[in-house]
Amino acid sequence: MTATLTAAELDSADPLARLRDAFHLPGELYLVGNSLGALPKSAPDYVTTEFERWATLGVEGHFTGELAWKDYHALVSDQLARLVGAGRDEVVAMNGLTVNLHLLMISFYRPTPKRHKILIEAHAFPSDHFAAESQIRQRGFDPAQSLVTLAPRPGEETLRVDDMLATIAELGDELALVMLPGVQYYTGQVMPMATLTEAGHAVGAVVGFDLAHAVGNIELDLHDWNVDFAAWCTYKYLNSGPGGVAGAYVHRRHVNDQTLPKLLGWWGTNPSTRFEMATDFDAIDTVESWQLSNAPVLAMATLRASLDLFDEAGGIGALRSKSERQIEFFDRRLDEVIGDRVINITPRALEERGCQFALRVTAGDGKRVFDALEGARVLCDWREPDVIRVAPVPLYNSFSDIERFVQILDGIVQ
Ligand SMILES: *Cc1c(COP(=O)(O)O)cnc(C)c1O
Repeated sequence: MTATLTAAELDSADPLARLRDAFHLPGELYLVGNSLGALPKSAPDYVTTEFERWATLGVEGHFTGELAWKDYHALVSDQLARLVGAGRDEVVAMNGLTVNLHLLMISFYRPTPKRHKILIEAHAFPSDHFAAESQIRQRGFDPAQSLVTLAPRPGEETLRVDDMLATIAELGDELALVMLPGVQYYTGQVMPMATLTEAGHAVGAVVGFDLAHAVGNIELDLHDWNVDFAAWCTYKYLNSGPGGVAGAYVHRRHVNDQTLPKLLGWWGTNPSTRFEMATDFDAIDTVESWQLSNAPVLAMATLRASLDLFDEAGGIGALRSKSERQIEFFDRRLDEVIGDRVINITPRALEERGCQFALRVTAGDGKRVFDALEGARVLCDWREPDVIRVAPVPLYNSFSDIERFVQILDGIVQ
């Protein structure tokens, strides 16, 4: 359908085009929502509301009205649940992403002398690598024996599903935990989460995903895929702003399992008795029992602003279908205008990619090309060793943004 249409034609046929006006978009072109999502114009109002409540209610703001701060985290539970394909009892907004990975590994990485290995990717985001490595040490094991990494075949960019499944099967009863990304941060490859979960479970391992680059980008069905746990940040595709509050998911079959080891805090205990200040922990029977501290309300207010815009767009399904049209259009224009001066190392099949393109310049020096893009105020990002990441985000990027990017890139890589 997009085969011959121009960017302007595609924009005028796009029912979501008007949402662009709901965001501040810095620079000439903002194509870096995979790193820091754009600011919703409504976000300051959501924060101001909390300032006003604080100014007028003071401490009573914790208990007053629909926005009572003691339950503020729960205001986003339904919205997050829809984005990841889970029930509201299975998701919670709390902490930062790496913090949540640690809290969840404390519960779900339970090594024994026989079964102690964690499978991650060789090119995992460093924080995920550090988290897994330090969890292994913390339990008295040695990362040299217990941390197993998956790499693409020599000369290839992305992981083959068959290789991942073969590694899981080979590790068998030594494999304690599979912890992979939903979408790989460098290549943009979407992992086959349902298949990997099934394979991990088949050998008796627990399976968790880091959804930093997946949430708000692709459709997810964590509950039906049977994923044990997941965590994500919200400042990328969910536009919560720098250092925004992260999310966590635990499958319903585990949320009320009191045998799981867990770090405890007062926000995980029954809210109806919490303020009696007793010291018997009465775990909330949802994933909220993993909460430690009271919610950072001011930071969560910006997240609410953005999640309301996801609802206005009609949810992730509607956004993903626009995104697929944008991916096809971007592919087509790169083929037509840029040709082999740049290669995209992201998989070509739609089901194996989100909106991020990982471009490697073959005609000249990639870093110089990136610097020239920056000089033209095209905001995208450079990831060592040699990739320019560009992400047209369906919530606020237009087909015309993609066209302009291709034209500017063409001017630079002459
Ligand atoms: C962005 C990102 C992080 C960042 O971690 P924080 O704890 O939010 O600072 C971690 N892992 C992956 C895979 C990411 O993409």
